[in-house]
Amino acid sequence: MRDTIMKTIAVLGATGSVGTQALDVARARGYCVDLMSAHRNVRAAEALAREFSPTFLCMTDEAAAADMRVRLADTSIEVLSGEAGLREGIARSCAETVVHAILGAAGLSPTLATIDSGKRLALANKESLVIAGDIVMARARAKGVDILPVDSEHCAIFQSLLSGKREQVRRLLLTASGGPFFGYSREQLAAVSAEDTLRHPTWQMGRKITVDSATLMNKGFEILEAAHLFSVPATAIEVVVHRESILHSAVEYIDNTVIGEFSLPDMRMCVQYAVDYPDRCASHGEPLDLVRLGRMTFFAPDREAFPLLTLAERASTLGGGMGAVLNAADEVAVDAFLHGHLTFLGIADCVQSAFEDCLPYRSAATLEERMEADRYARDRARIYIESLG
Ligand code: MG
Repeated sequence: MRDTIMKTIAVLGATGSVGTQALDVARARGYCVDLMSAHRNVRAAEALAREFSPTFLCMTDEAAAADMRVRLADTSIEVLSGEAGLREGIARSCAETVVHAILGAAGLSPTLATIDSGKRLALANKESLVIAGDIVMARARAKGVDILPVDSEHCAIFQSLLSGKREQVRRLLLTASGGPFFGYSREQLAAVSAEDTLRHPTWQMGRKITVDSATLMNKGFEILEAAHLFSVPATAIEVVVHRESILHSAVEYIDNTVIGEFSLPDMRMCVQYAVDYPDRCASHGEPLDLVRLGRMTFFAPDREAFPLLTLAERASTLGGGMGAVLNAADEVAVDAFLHGHLTFLGIADCVQSAFEDCLPYRSAATLEERMEADRYARDRARIYIESLG
């Protein structure tokens, strides 16, 4: 039976939200885990390493790696360290698929290392595509590497695109839960706290992405991701608010047919799809019961209350370094919000202000120039926050 063929994977960012769900899938499906990485959560990483016995465990924090070498001295697991160690692990691992769930801009280097290694990339790291989607996709094409998105929306679009030819696609319908503040006016948003924001209705995620979901910045990033992954302009991507998070996204074809992917929200399905593609294997998750669900609702996003959505479309259209700028400014703004230095509405104001200051970076073409755009945008965002006093 095909179903029982042992698959070998790597899980980068193994102790994070998506990483632990990827390991749930590995457990349930009996995948062999050959490489794992974590940053500095040594206790969680040690427990996972003892459970899965990978050939390589990389701690990207050097001190954590030194600690881990002592902890795992009684095993044959090779402990690697730092960003270079991670690249080495990716190159040497026998994994067929690298599930890349590292958070933030630090994920770009392992994305490129995975592509260079010729392994399939199951990509959950958004920043790789937001910052350098053009560079990443060009390198993947040159190497003949498949990138399978591990993000419910992009996984849905990937699957929906299998129903027709690219030139028959009219637009992508990117669904959004709307976040915890769906239906709020700007006046109501002015009063929301960090605590309110960290309560997401559907998905359990890290703090940064939960805030990004509330501002719709996350959906904005997903526009940039989709534009790169599927080679479509931002103008051919429509964001539709769908509160139930059952239709994970869809593709509209020129004959008006809409093909979408429906399932209960469960990130593990995306991981499993990415590893098993083009096969489909039995899932341990719960199947969708349409009758029990009863109804699905759809709304246009409120662009006045959530201006970062429109800003992301602009960043996607401008291209170059503007994705890097958006990501960097947002990271600074969200951090300031969580520490009480910005209000909820202040996040968008801060990002917008930094964005305008960074417009010359729209022509940033190389990775080095993108990193420069990232640094400059962080500076501008910090200066904006300081100016508020
Ligand atoms: Mg998503």
